[in-house]
Amino acid sequence: MNRLDELRRSIEAAGADALLVTTPANVRFLSGFGTPEDAAVLVTQDEALLLTDSRYTAQAQEQSKLPFEIVAGAHDAVAAKLGGRKLAVEGDATTLTQYRALAGKLGYDPVVVEGVFTPLRLVKTEAEIAKLREAARVTDLAYEAALAVMKPGVMEVEVALELERAMRLNGAEGSAFDIIVASGVRGAMPHGVASQKRLAAGELVTLDFGAVVDGYHADMTRTVAIGEVGAEERRLFDAVLEAQQAALDAVAPGRSGREVDQVARDVLGEHGLADAFTHSLGHGTGLVIHEGPRLSHRSDDVLQPGMVVTVEPGVYFPGFTGLRIEDLVVVTEEGREVLSKSPKAFRSL
Ligand code: ZN
Ligand code: ZN
Repeated sequence: MNRLDELRRSIEAAGADALLVTTPANVRFLSGFGTPEDAAVLVTQDEALLLTDSRYTAQAQEQSKLPFEIVAGAHDAVAAKLGGRKLAVEGDATTLTQYRALAGKLGYDPVVVEGVFTPLRLVKTEAEIAKLREAARVTDLAYEAALAVMKPGVMEVEVALELERAMRLNGAEGSAFDIIVASGVRGAMPHGVASQKRLAAGELVTLDFGAVVDGYHADMTRTVAIGEVGAEERRLFDAVLEAQQAALDAVAPGRSGREVDQVARDVLGEHGLADAFTHSLGHGTGLVIHEGPRLSHRSDDVLQPGMVVTVEPGVYFPGFTGLRIEDLVVVTEEGREVLSKSPKAFRSL
């Protein structure tokens, strides 16, 4: 069954005849249209139509896989098209103000649905995997470019700019999230967005970033040393790399998110580092940077071929240091294909 038919079944199950899709990632998922924030898709039992405004006529012509209509106001257009048919809206993408306005136009309260796209987006098609593979390739190229500028005295933001520059020049439409460059004590912050701090000899530096290609988000983390680091930093690095490799090797169809997370946790535990691994092992990625399935100690998600996840254990010691290593990986029939190709062995610049 194709994804549109699956969606129609959920619309029917919710007691509606049509769905107004307004979550940008879902609009892009259905239509391929590259500015989904300024568009919507109306799905009925016999039609799926992209609605956008006159600024985007040429773009919709070029990009939309669905028939499209240029409208002045999506709500008026939807009310006119539906006649008496019952509309549903996406609960997590509709503000109360929008809901009330739409209800006013329709003359009734639309049905609210939640999470109907989640199962459709979990398993990627070959075409989606190809985009993620390309996003990972561009991410690898940016890493190489960043290594070339990293040395004592360079600011974290300069490294982040080099990553962004290289991603853009190699075809990324943007950065998947605020680039993390966390050096020395800042490494203890799992989300240490690049600051004006300068890199210094003897520090570990964690880079976490990803390219967006055709709407699809890559995600990779590498940690490198600047000059000579202490024996404890080196021990932590080796433990995290061992945990990351073990968890990566555990990715396979039929494994649960909880099981794969536990593999990394066990390895870190053997090194006395269980308490320092303060977040979950990984997450799915695709049209948004964090989506299902989840790899965490609370996750019952079961891996299936075509799912794309990150594997990213890390350890964090406030006031001292921290590090993480992350790869992007596709679950395959046989096990896995690692999309991130950048070397991750210990490296000192
Ligand atoms: Zn990341
Ligand atoms: Zn991640």
